[in-house]
Amino acid sequence: LVSRENHPERSTIRVGGVPIGPDTVTLIAGPCAVETPQQTLEAAEMAKAAGATLLRGGAYKPRTSPYAFQGLGEAGLRILAEIGERTGLPIVTEVMDARDVPLVASYADMLQVGTRNTQNFALLQAVGKAGKPVMLKRGMSGTIEEWLMSAEYIAQRGNLDIVLCERGIRTFETATRNTLDVSAVPVAQRLSHLPVVIDPSHSGGRRDLVLPLTRAAIAVGADGVIIDVHPHPEQALCDGPQALVDADLHDLAEIMRLFPPLL
Ligand code: PEP
Repeated sequence: LVSRENHPERSTIRVGGVPIGPDTVTLIAGPCAVETPQQTLEAAEMAKAAGATLLRGGAYKPRTSPYAFQGLGEAGLRILAEIGERTGLPIVTEVMDARDVPLVASYADMLQVGTRNTQNFALLQAVGKAGKPVMLKRGMSGTIEEWLMSAEYIAQRGNLDIVLCERGIRTFETATRNTLDVSAVPVAQRLSHLPVVIDPSHSGGRRDLVLPLTRAAIAVGADGVIIDVHPHPEQALCDGPQALVDADLHDLAEIMRLFPPLL
């Protein structure tokens, strides 16, 4: 269903009216985690100033440590939905458990399946039935074939509104959190008609790498980028070191200005 063999035209997916597809580079930006209404609003305003047309933010956070901030749950969804409405940005947020899909889908414009859940087949089937577009991250140790098969699980349940997201893979290299596999973009685009975006924040895990990796994403033909921003990353409850700050927005906006959003 997601193969390009039977569907030679590349697809454009619409999220609350915002296109992600071959004719533009869509910027999705926002906080890694929803922490407070004020922090979410400031991050959304930063995202918008940089040219974002979709707002990201996690209410359910998949953390390595069970002692780390796990997200605000439904309270976070409520904040995100309210700020999305206020700023006019449709929202993208992660769902981690098949049982939470109806609840998360009742707030979100797009459901995100994170790297740790790329082969959680019950979750994939549940988002396939949720009636909302899905952003499917690549498993951090997953092959492109496995990633596309996961997309197939979603599509098989009737949902073809899927965007693939390359977010870095685990390699021997320790200088970066993950290794961004830029070749995944043209490879996946050749094999599948689905749009492919890059997450330069989670791949490098470092603020100083986000803009260079964004340029790399665009150069390699990505259909969008999803970027963490935070008004006060030193106080962030999740992934502060990779969040862009106010001082970075001018450069990000300059990059995005080359690709005016098609609304
Ligand atoms: C995220 O985007 O918030 C996230 C946790 O990403 P990943 O699943 O790629 O680690």
